[in-house]
Amino acid sequence: LYQSLMRHEKMETVSHFAAAVSHELRNPLQSVKGFVQLLQEYEYPRAKQLEFQQTILEEIKVAEDLIDDYLVYAKPIYGELKRIEVEPELSHVIKIMTPYANARNVEILVQAGDSSSPIMGDSQKLHQALVNVIRNGIEAMPDGGRLGVELETSAQSICVHITDEGVGMTKEQLKRLGEPYFSNKSKGTGLGLMVTYSIVNQMGGEIEVESEVGKGTKFTLEFPKLLDA
Ligand code: ADP
Ligand code: MG
Repeated sequence: LYQSLMRHEKMETVSHFAAAVSHELRNPLQSVKGFVQLLQEYEYPRAKQLEFQQTILEEIKVAEDLIDDYLVYAKPIYGELKRIEVEPELSHVIKIMTPYANARNVEILVQAGDSSSPIMGDSQKLHQALVNVIRNGIEAMPDGGRLGVELETSAQSICVHITDEGVGMTKEQLKRLGEPYFSNKSKGTGLGLMVTYSIVNQMGGEIEVESEVGKGTKFTLEFPKLLDA
């Protein structure tokens, strides 16, 4: 019973998610369609044609980026789980997020021991899961601040703690985390955490969130540690 409940829950998430992505893909596709129709209808001068073609390529890139951002997690994972080390993956993610943090006056403070941190997973998906939480932490501090990233390894599990000193959340907001389209931002997609929850679930991990309005938020992503054979 438990398993079928879980499967049901997962299927529901995937279909919500598919709806969200197809909704967002519609804009660039609509735009490509419009420009191709224009090119078919009129004899534009060569320069204009090239300009439209350039726009078409850019819109296709938008669609590709959306697929990269949001669908990376939806790839079939069975048989693709590999042994990965969390520490180098986390370092990579911090490196790619640093310019985003700097631009918002956020300092990322890293505490990552050099101990081995093996889990079963997919490095691309792990990147996505971490990026989405780190980005939220940065965005929660509109006036800047510190974002703590800590890697904790124990006998059984590998935990990544991401702590901000931002706006925090109410109990009501906490309950809705991971729900598609749930966003309190003017330009939020409300998809980031949904993706993160799905990925962490697929890896057999768990997410714990502690938050206080006006104080900040701590996300903990916990993965089962891979025990060496
Ligand atoms: P988005 O960032 O596009 O709004 P997410 O799924 O990433 O969508 O996050 C959903 C919502 O959860 C955010 O709009 C925000 O209200 C809340 N949230 C997530 N992380 C934090 C955080 N670190 N601090 C405060 N609120 C957060
Ligand atoms: Mg987000």
